[in-house]
Amino acid sequence: MFGMLSSISKDFTVIVPDQSNIHAALVAKARGLTAYKANNLDEVWKIILGEVQPRTVNYNAVKSQIKRKEVASYVPDLQAINGAARAKEAMSIAVAGGHNILLVGPPGQGKSMLSSAATKMLPDLTSGEVFEINKIYSAKGLLQENEVITSRPYIEVSHATTEAALFGGGAHLLPGEISLAHRGVLLFDEINLFKKDIIENLRTPLEQRKSIIQRVAGRVEYPCSFVMIATMNPCKCGWFNHFQCPKCGIIVISKNQCEKCWSELVHKCTCSKTALKSYKDKLSNPLKDRIDLKVLLSSHDSGSRQKFDFSTSTIQKRIAAAREIQAERYKNANNIYCNADIKDDHQYQQYDSLDTDVKVYLNTISRKLDITPRQKMRLQLISRTVADFLQSKKVRKEDVHKAIFLMGLDNEYCRQL
Ligand SMILES: [Zn+2]
Ligand SMILES: [Zn+2]
Repeated sequence: MFGMLSSISKDFTVIVPDQSNIHAALVAKARGLTAYKANNLDEVWKIILGEVQPRTVNYNAVKSQIKRKEVASYVPDLQAINGAARAKEAMSIAVAGGHNILLVGPPGQGKSMLSSAATKMLPDLTSGEVFEINKIYSAKGLLQENEVITSRPYIEVSHATTEAALFGGGAHLLPGEISLAHRGVLLFDEINLFKKDIIENLRTPLEQRKSIIQRVAGRVEYPCSFVMIATMNPCKCGWFNHFQCPKCGIIVISKNQCEKCWSELVHKCTCSKTALKSYKDKLSNPLKDRIDLKVLLSSHDSGSRQKFDFSTSTIQKRIAAAREIQAERYKNANNIYCNADIKDDHQYQQYDSLDTDVKVYLNTISRKLDITPRQKMRLQLISRTVADFLQSKKVRKEDVHKAIFLMGLDNEYCRQL
């Protein structure tokens, strides 16, 4: 009903069944439609003939009956997640620019918690976005007549998912999970355990931000613009890059001596080099290209000098400000809303505003790091997002440094991912 109503031009008057009263009231209020409600076809007929006084759908009258439906169940606050300062910062930058992110870390380090926290880091939904989301959920039959979704969705894809469940389809051409995550967050936990073809087929919708379903029954397009978060263990044993004190058992991610007893630390990972490589190779190549940020995450970085002790609402405000900067930058562009929407170098050049010295620096460091032209373009974009997050007009050399770190370009392990 939501979808049908919101596609009606505002000069029309619609008559809806009594039970669709609430959705009709919302659409009528937002779109300036006139909507009447009717109990049966006889009443519809009498309204048309002018034999009865039509009962107008009234937003204020139904306001109290609206049930807000949450798609994300429990969303922890950033401050409730221990340590993981680097990953929290990376997640903030990812959300600020709409970039996809891969979190690599041992099990039980808060990867899933941090992913669900991302839904509340995104700015509040605009009324247009509320419409888009409710149209999709209504088409899927997931909304009761009095339910409205007013917060960003969080969808965790299960390893048992099928092509139809993920991308949409079936006899009724229903939207899939990638569309149910529209304007929200889509999580692939342990991404290297998904079937390869499923992950590879993500490439087109990730790029086009829509899912096209073509069957004998017809053809339908659903939007699917979301922040994709993927997680994986760094290796089979899970402890790659972690070091432990043999005496007091403390686990850290730096190779230095134990801070308590000064003993030499030993690498906690027990995987062989070959096992490590075959584990990483499970991640499919086409997808690696689509994930901009790759971060090694650990709750054991809490003792490090880096702190990121902000609440979700503080970060949400900074992200909203960064998104506003981007909206202004791309206001004349078609289908570009955030930095991650830039597809290629040609498009990037139209908005490039780097100072000459930063450009020279970027060229030098790109040669030094031996990165591909595509990686260089993404490096420029992420540097831009880092600056936007800090509300800085100019991209500085330290923003480029931060972007190199977030993309894992200075880390041998992440570069192979
Ligand atoms: Zn020790
Ligand atoms: Zn290992």
